[in-house]
Amino acid sequence: MSSIGKVLVVGGGIGGMSAAICLRRSDVEVHLIDLDPEWRVYGAGITLTGPTLRAFRALGVFDELASQAYTGHGIQVCNMAGDRLKVVPTPVVGDPDLPGSGGVLRPVLHAILARRTLDSGTHVRLGVTVDSLAQNEGDVTVRFSDGMEDRYDLVIGADGIFSRTRTLIFPDAPGPEFTGQCAWRLVIPRAPGIDRRHFFLGGPVKVGLNPVSASEMYMFLLEALPAPNRIEDADLHLRLAELMQGYGGVLATIREQLNESSRIVRRPLEGFLLPAPWFSGRVVLIGDAAHPTTPQLASGAGMAIEDALVLSEELARQGEVPRALERFMERRYARCRLVVENSLQIGRLEQQRAPIEAQAALVEESLAVLAEPI
Ligand SMILES: Cc1cc2nc3c(=O)[nH]c(=O)nc-3n(C[C@H](O)[C@H](O)[C@H](O)COP(=O)(O)OP(=O)(O)OC[C@H]3O[C@@H](n4cnc5c(N)ncnc54)[C@H](O)[C@@H]3O)c2cc1C
Repeated sequence: MSSIGKVLVVGGGIGGMSAAICLRRSDVEVHLIDLDPEWRVYGAGITLTGPTLRAFRALGVFDELASQAYTGHGIQVCNMAGDRLKVVPTPVVGDPDLPGSGGVLRPVLHAILARRTLDSGTHVRLGVTVDSLAQNEGDVTVRFSDGMEDRYDLVIGADGIFSRTRTLIFPDAPGPEFTGQCAWRLVIPRAPGIDRRHFFLGGPVKVGLNPVSASEMYMFLLEALPAPNRIEDADLHLRLAELMQGYGGVLATIREQLNESSRIVRRPLEGFLLPAPWFSGRVVLIGDAAHPTTPQLASGAGMAIEDALVLSEELARQGEVPRALERFMERRYARCRLVVENSLQIGRLEQQRAPIEAQAALVEESLAVLAEPI
């Protein structure tokens, strides 16, 4: 008989909601808290790889997601002028009827997962965080920021890159570091002919387009800079237009249409890998709380969902927390390390403007490993 009756999930992002959905399938009582009283997510697009789509299917949300997202095959590689050079295949991972690639708006994905979380019977409380964690022999006593207190068999820290749960259990752990790049993302109507992912190579910045629905797409652009700097919201479109100078075709058209109300999100890239194990006693970290990555392999969300799938599987299989957490680490560490380390390395190659072949080889090598079963 399982000794796992009640679990607290700290953080209602992609990883936390996935964990709640999975655990409810085993009838575990799940409480989920999120610091944001409105449980929002910022409005950018996200790229979905084959392994990420496989994870969505295992989570049971693939069909709903696919109806509101873009799914397809291949990446069209173009030069700076926008001329088509070739189409790189994106192999199918898992079920043969799954597409090899996709894209979705974060708010759309968030709404799907949030509804599934609530429908699963998870108790959700918003505008709350954890003040303290006291580990006892067989459970954890949690004191919340609103003064409430409760006991849990397991606490899952899914509170993202600046995780408070991580600080509480590993106060001396290394933290995220700036990697030398800033990510720009812009959501715009889908341009004619953008029927799959696009990369524009050979220019001063890495830039690409990714459909996210039948009518919208997002553009990403990576800017190299020595230290993070702040740009006023009103000036974002001006700086983005500067960075896109010299690009032709569809990118030239997008550049001409940039204005003060363009939907632009800019964020410095940070990443790091928490040394194993990612748990202390009965408190475990998943997703960006343990292995925040830069977007070069577009796999951070996929890794967070896989963490949730594997953790809930091991809890159900082992029936007790300590052994389940050992098994979770055995199955997750090397895979997540590969994503963080190779993403950081590709970012360094981009900054050195290393040959495209060297960058592509590392991407291909990484995606081949990620296609393996979890
Ligand atoms: C620029 C950029 C582009 C990216 N693009 C892609 C991509 O194309 N494809 C992809 O797969 N991945 C991408 N990623 C990575 C992906 O976004 C993350 O890996 C993923 O969101 C991790 O999910 P998570 O649930 O661990 O954390 P998050 O999504 O960050 O969720 C954390 C949640 O915890 C809550 N929270 C925070 N602090 C507390 C607290 N103290 N108490 C309670 N709640 C708290 C937050 O409100 C949030 O809801 C990208 C990342 C970046 C930076």
